[in-house]
Amino acid sequence: MYARSFRVGNKWRTIYGIVARIMGSPVEEIKSRLGVEEVVGSYLKLERAGANLKAKCPFHHEKTASFFVSPARGSFYCFGCGAKGDIFSFVEQMEGVDFKGALRVLAERAGVHLSRFRKEESDSRDRLFAVLEEATQFFEKELGARADARTYLASRGLLPKTSEVWRVGFAPDEWRALRARLSAKGFSDTEMLRAGLIKQSVERKGEPYDVFRNRIMFPIFDSAGRVIAFSGRIFGKEDENTPKYLNTPETELWRKSSALYGIHLAKHKIRERGFALLVEGQMDLLMCHQVGFENAVAASGTALTPEHLDILCRFSENILLAYDADAAGEKAALRAVSAALQKGMAVKIAALSDKGKDPADIIAKSPAEFADGLKNSTHFVKFLLERAAARGETVRERSRLVRAEVLPFVRDVKSAIERAEFVKDIAARLEVREDAVWEDLEKIESSQLPTTNYQLPTNKAQNSALRMLTGIIFCALLLTENERKIDTEKLRKALGAIGAEFLLYISAISADERDTHIFEAEARFGGGEEIPKEVSVLLLHLEKEELERKSVEILNALTVAERGGESEARRKELLTLLQSIRMRIEEIKRLLAE
Ligand SMILES: [Zn+2]
Repeated sequence: MYARSFRVGNKWRTIYGIVARIMGSPVEEIKSRLGVEEVVGSYLKLERAGANLKAKCPFHHEKTASFFVSPARGSFYCFGCGAKGDIFSFVEQMEGVDFKGALRVLAERAGVHLSRFRKEESDSRDRLFAVLEEATQFFEKELGARADARTYLASRGLLPKTSEVWRVGFAPDEWRALRARLSAKGFSDTEMLRAGLIKQSVERKGEPYDVFRNRIMFPIFDSAGRVIAFSGRIFGKEDENTPKYLNTPETELWRKSSALYGIHLAKHKIRERGFALLVEGQMDLLMCHQVGFENAVAASGTALTPEHLDILCRFSENILLAYDADAAGEKAALRAVSAALQKGMAVKIAALSDKGKDPADIIAKSPAEFADGLKNSTHFVKFLLERAAARGETVRERSRLVRAEVLPFVRDVKSAIERAEFVKDIAARLEVREDAVWEDLEKIESSQLPTTNYQLPTNKAQNSALRMLTGIIFCALLLTENERKIDTEKLRKALGAIGAEFLLYISAISADERDTHIFEAEARFGGGEEIPKEVSVLLLHLEKEELERKSVEILNALTVAERGGESEARRKELLTLLQSIRMRIEEIKRLLAE
């Protein structure tokens, strides 16, 4: 049974591909080219589980795999947290991008040119991306004209190729140069304001002016590689009234608490290398990537937040901070570390000996020294212990500091073994008995940051639908009870008891929900190879319904094609498609009659 439905799955992929080309949907064309196992497999290590594949869920913390992928249906489902969907929703959730972002990521992978499908950019979000892209090109061009700015970048060790990759630019020292360029390109002031590129003076209601003037411009990208904001570093004269770094104010596209600078290029390297390298500034990040630490990312315009961690821990559970010691000890950084430890992530800090120097300068001077610093990294709790112990002058003072600054983090550490390890270290460092440290630890509240909990998607099924769900589960239970041999009599009774409503429900069920039930059934019946006949009958009914709906759609398309005087070839294609669908419906009818 399963082998056949797998073939059908592949056949459908091909048919969807044809529909996509005719109907012009990039989504279907991408789906016809990329399998779910290929896409998910590039992020997670998948293991075979019968007809499906499984992995540890990237969306919630777990020890045993409950995340299943079905190649035949092109979907995934997690029994632990309820995450589910197709390749698009997977990339959306995995990379924290919107649907269009996922579309971009997957289109590139599938070799599908989106421009072929793009209509006029009427969507207002598209307009914002477009205005930011235009601004990026403007800044890039300006940098080309500014030898002094390029000399400055070179003096910091940045190679022209690196600034090209990261699209570094320059904002000229003029009040309305960017605005003039953008309005010449057809963008309105409202659009520029919404993208955070210009601002309106409050007191003098004059013309809006450019936010960024006389700055080296670093575009900030989303995970799909689209520019969503800028960070501008002041160039040349520095005075007290002008901030050294200026970021785009928060907009619809840019939220600094969740955007990670560099994630679009670093994400796969983070997985490959098994850790994320966190740095503070744009220059640090660019220099890291330039010398081969391509797993580097940076929080931009804010300290690391729990939201950043949510993104990072989908790629790896290990983070290495290349911060200078002061920055790592700052409250905001500590909050993030605490959240990371509570999530079960391992947090280390690099041993950067040149105090007060940032990674960019260390790398410019000697990449080897920087690499050594990473190699000699220590666990964050140990770093805190050293820091507290070094500050306390008396034993008493040291103990107090350790209790206040280190123990809360020990509480956060998820692994009991590691916790015991740290208690041992602390006892040794303070020259006290381990029991005493354990006692103190008991009394201490964890640094208690609410970690983000992935909530089970609420079941929107109400009354009758809920009863139907119960019905399906009831059937499944019946099936297992009888050692996978169906007791038709019992099942019929169960279905009969729920009545016609049940049939209505299963015919109206969305593909998404249907998948969930199938995953559940497969899990219950062992990898999907032995789905009992009755369940396959249910599925055939569902498939038939869907095909009938689809054939109506194609009939409509045919009418339109005829009226619109479409080419003979296209009508033929539609007809062929319709024919193959009808054949499958007949086949299902025969199977159901058996
Ligand atoms: Zn999960």
